[in-house]
Amino acid sequence: MVHPVFADLPTTIFEEMSGLARQTGAINLGQGFPDQPGPLAVRQRAALETVEGYNQYPPMRGLAELRAAAARHYGRFQGLDLDPDLEITVTSGATEALAAAFLSLISPGDEVVLFQPLYDAYLPMVRRAGGVPRLVTLEAPGFRLERAQLEAAFTARTRMVVLNNPINPAATLWEDEDLALLAEFCVAHDAIAVCDEVWEQIVFDGRPFRPLMAFPGMRQRTVKIGSAGKMFALTGWKVGFICAAPALTRALAGAHQFLTFTTPPNLQAAVAWGLDHCPDWFAAMPGALQRSRDRLAGGLTAAGFAVAPSAGTYFLMVDLAASGVRESDRTFCLRTVTDHGVAAIPISAFYETGAPVNLIRLCFAKQDATLDAGVERLARARAVVI
Ligand code: PMP
Ligand code: GLN
Repeated sequence: MVHPVFADLPTTIFEEMSGLARQTGAINLGQGFPDQPGPLAVRQRAALETVEGYNQYPPMRGLAELRAAAARHYGRFQGLDLDPDLEITVTSGATEALAAAFLSLISPGDEVVLFQPLYDAYLPMVRRAGGVPRLVTLEAPGFRLERAQLEAAFTARTRMVVLNNPINPAATLWEDEDLALLAEFCVAHDAIAVCDEVWEQIVFDGRPFRPLMAFPGMRQRTVKIGSAGKMFALTGWKVGFICAAPALTRALAGAHQFLTFTTPPNLQAAVAWGLDHCPDWFAAMPGALQRSRDRLAGGLTAAGFAVAPSAGTYFLMVDLAASGVRESDRTFCLRTVTDHGVAAIPISAFYETGAPVNLIRLCFAKQDATLDAGVERLARARAVVI
């Protein structure tokens, strides 16, 4: 009756945990969304565009002003030189961009190299497109790439590699050596790299973000995916970007036109305005999140939890076993959300094989009082089982 990929597919862990948090009134440190409303000027712009702007179908590939603003943005922040007309497509969030990439670039039987832990949308959509996943597991705590692993994963049938940088949920940023190594394999195997770089703007401690597209040999074979929802802390907006060389963009846009065709023009116009008019936001946002990261990490450490470093994203990971908690990640998360009023995400949900069961993910894009209350509740949940 239904396609086998979807027959037994569970609801995503983010929705499951947020659903439980809604039911129980728990503090939600699970799904990644800020509890601040996002930049006022950008929201006001969306309101203005809704009331006084154009609200009919915009151009299929996105408003020209948004594609131009995105090209300027990536030029300013990442030194990329993108042609807004031929190389940028606006999508309904990074999620649609990923689907468009998989549907348009994978043919049945093509092998696709993916890295565990992996964002939950990748595997079902790669499989639905007919791709054959070849999983490489990155080892905690560094989540670095090993040449031998790539040698084992890439074959004559490799068509695509899917990269997430910074990594959700590991909160690590790929090192230049790792990216260079991956680029070497992509070039040698004539493979396309789909780079989910939605967290590109949220990198801490002054480290630069390096897009894989900028590495030698990658400009023509990289599909770079971004998300305005992440750039402006407006996760519900679902305005995404796909950047890729013209030949790839033609195929990507072909899939996009039958997935959603377009994305609401009022939001596109507000994002276009925000990309050019909010330098203060982009300058301050990572620092503010870094302070929240440090507050949550400090509180958790003081409460006896073993906290992994976070180089980017809204997230940090906690090692339950190293924190003295003798419970699996999922059991702990279900217990904390129902009994202790705080939601977290079990990391095993990001693995298909060989999942660790000792790690959970917490979102620190929250106000101080929320973080402090979350720590108190997690400490109570820990006290019961140590
Ligand atoms: N990829 C990753 C790695 C993500 O973390 C997210 C959302 N948190 C997405 C894709 C989806 O982005 P969007 O909301 O723009 O669809
Ligand atoms: N990407 C968000 C996270 O990692 C969740 C997005 C979703 O719920 N689909 O928390």
